[in-house]
Amino acid sequence: MIKIQKNVPLAEYTTFKVGGPAKFFVCAKNEDELVAAVEYAKENGLAIFVLGGGSNILVSDKGFDGLVIKLENKQWEIEGEILECGAGAVLFDVVKDVAQNNLSGFEWAAGIPGTFGGAVRGNAGAFWGDMSANIESVRALRMEDNVIEEFSKEGCEFGYRSSFFKKSGNLIVLSAKMRFKEGNREKSFVEMDDIVDKRVTKQPQDMPSAGSFFQNPVVEDPELVKKFEQDIGAPSRGGKVAAGWLIDQLGLRGKKIGGAMVSEKHANFLVNGGGAKAEDVIILVSYLKQQVRDNLGVQLVEEVQYVGF
Ligand SMILES: Cc1cc2nc3c(=O)[nH]c(=O)nc-3n(C[C@H](O)[C@H](O)[C@H](O)COP(=O)(O)OP(=O)(O)OC[C@H]3O[C@@H](n4cnc5c(N)ncnc54)[C@H](O)[C@@H]3O)c2cc1C
Repeated sequence: MIKIQKNVPLAEYTTFKVGGPAKFFVCAKNEDELVAAVEYAKENGLAIFVLGGGSNILVSDKGFDGLVIKLENKQWEIEGEILECGAGAVLFDVVKDVAQNNLSGFEWAAGIPGTFGGAVRGNAGAFWGDMSANIESVRALRMEDNVIEEFSKEGCEFGYRSSFFKKSGNLIVLSAKMRFKEGNREKSFVEMDDIVDKRVTKQPQDMPSAGSFFQNPVVEDPELVKKFEQDIGAPSRGGKVAAGWLIDQLGLRGKKIGGAMVSEKHANFLVNGGGAKAEDVIILVSYLKQQVRDNLGVQLVEEVQYVGF
């Protein structure tokens, strides 16, 4: 039995702590509740937004004029080398449990906020890994007819922070299977501690944000790529240059519009310095995109998803 709530403030459900209310809001603890929620939206002509951990979104100040479905199917199982996990599980909890079971290959995801399903949908990645590397298959609900489909890894069409589920917009990730290698619990936890330390050192943890705001673009200008490689002391991956590095070239750390600010610690993190409005963030984003385009000839593209704009 689902319970539809009205006018639920969404800011608290996001890591950015920005944005207005959902006109309608429901938590779905299992697949039946999810199907019931989708049906409710259809019967009432409501747009649907699927909410995971809210760690990669910016909600507009007026909120979302439809039904927000918060996924809370949180169960997972580990059998042998296979993890089968519900989309609503907290990613880092799952990552720790995989290591606890002496399986290796998920350590890179230590400290990434949000849900397992959100990470599958966006092919979350960090350091040396991403979700796609270990995915065996994904189950997803097709909203138009409430049919559950199973996708092979190839069918998921994973790319850099991208997947078939993200492109389609009509599929809700329900669960996925991932395969890991036999490992060593102690070694995995040491590696994860190291990764979390790196995050604490390099990323702002004291101010709300939605993580890296822009995708790292492929840059055409060979001189700019060369400068980037010299600066970081390593070759660029496929001509990709860190969006934060581009913003840094223009000295824009600390740039502030209203309550929104480019983090002093990491130029690709836009932070809520206190009382930020979504409008402040949007104006800051436009400014950064225009500066990077006009001065460096690179078009930045948002990684963060806009909700209710
Ligand atoms: C401090 C910080 C550090 C971060 N570091 C990283 C990092 O290192 N690497 C990285 O990749 N990301 C990083 N992120 C971004 C974010 O944590 C990931 O993108 C995460 O996977 C998003 O999951 P979520 O559940 O929070 O998704 P949400 O923010 O809730 O949703 C994001 C999008 O996914 C959709 N969605 C969510 N769940 C589902 C589902 N089950 N089915 C279909 N669509 C769904 C939503 O509709 C929305 O469009 C960071 C964020 C923060 C705040």
